[in-house]
Amino acid sequence: MKVLVTGGLGFIGSHTVVQLAKRGHKVVIVDNLSNSREDVLTRIEEITGIKSKLFIEDATDEASMRRIFEASSFDGVIHFAGLKAVGESIKKPIEYYYNNLVSTMVLSKLCIEFGVEKFVFSSSATVYGNQPSPLSEIMDLKERTNPYGETKAISERILTDAAKVNLGFSVCLLRYFNPIGAHESGLLGEDPRGIPNNLMPFITRVANRDIEKLTIFGDDYDTEDGTCVRDYIHVVDIAEGHIAAIENMGKGVSVYNLGTGKGTSVLELIETFKKVNGVDVPFVIGERRPGDIAVCYADPSKAYKELGWKANKSLEDMVRDAWRFEVNNNQ
Ligand code: UDP
Repeated sequence: MKVLVTGGLGFIGSHTVVQLAKRGHKVVIVDNLSNSREDVLTRIEEITGIKSKLFIEDATDEASMRRIFEASSFDGVIHFAGLKAVGESIKKPIEYYYNNLVSTMVLSKLCIEFGVEKFVFSSSATVYGNQPSPLSEIMDLKERTNPYGETKAISERILTDAAKVNLGFSVCLLRYFNPIGAHESGLLGEDPRGIPNNLMPFITRVANRDIEKLTIFGDDYDTEDGTCVRDYIHVVDIAEGHIAAIENMGKGVSVYNLGTGKGTSVLELIETFKKVNGVDVPFVIGERRPGDIAVCYADPSKAYKELGWKANKSLEDMVRDAWRFEVNNNQ
């Protein structure tokens, strides 16, 4: 297949480009470098031996996207490009709605116009809102607590409505749980600009002594050790989920959770990181972070049944690979 990957130099995008190339698919990348670096392309080439074509463009720019669709004939689009920091989305709602929704509309419109049949979308477990885990695709979506989550839910809706009336256009919505880890080569990983928002890159920066200590956002939740529980999943497993999706998705609209089905608390993740890597991660307990829910993990059985995909890597793999990437790149 020939696949257009937006956000292909980002954390999940870059790992997916590697897996696509390994499976023999041709990849064209669009990335505006807003939270990624151009040298990721060279690193992808180092791992795969294949140089993908890169367009440094914004996926919201219809004229630029149209030129890319005119120049190539794609079998599918995987749309990662988007803003993804929950806290920032509360402070900059218009930027989030504009970026995340306009890019989805521009790309789906062009797919329909140019007869591109498959659209795989980066969604998120946040679309479920606060409901009891395990979260399953048959559940109704509940109210989101921030604009970021809302952009994912609205994008899902736009794509679903578009696929209903355009029978040649099929959509696969992938709801990610908490992707962490890095490529085992140490060449690709999560490298956010500035102070990290998410837990794993924060842990690696503290272990690296870039940041003095981690604040755990609350230890009075109704969980075994009082800290929040999440479904952490290795980014290479997530990338494999996209390959399974684009190769096996059916007609119309399909929805899959990409998670492991296993919950891990913040304290457990820190302890595993310390033990596996033999480094210290100083932390203090702080206030709860607004919008956090106590427990969130997947029922991943549908993706296994229908796509033959399941996560294979362990929590130990995730923390080891994340630390290897940090040591290789930021010391
Ligand atoms: N967290 C924390 N300290 C941090 C960052 C995150 O205690 O500096 C907690 C957060 O409250 C949540 C978990 O780590 O319970 C995972 O947060 P993250 O932002 O990585 O992902 P989310 O689950 O919000 O998508």
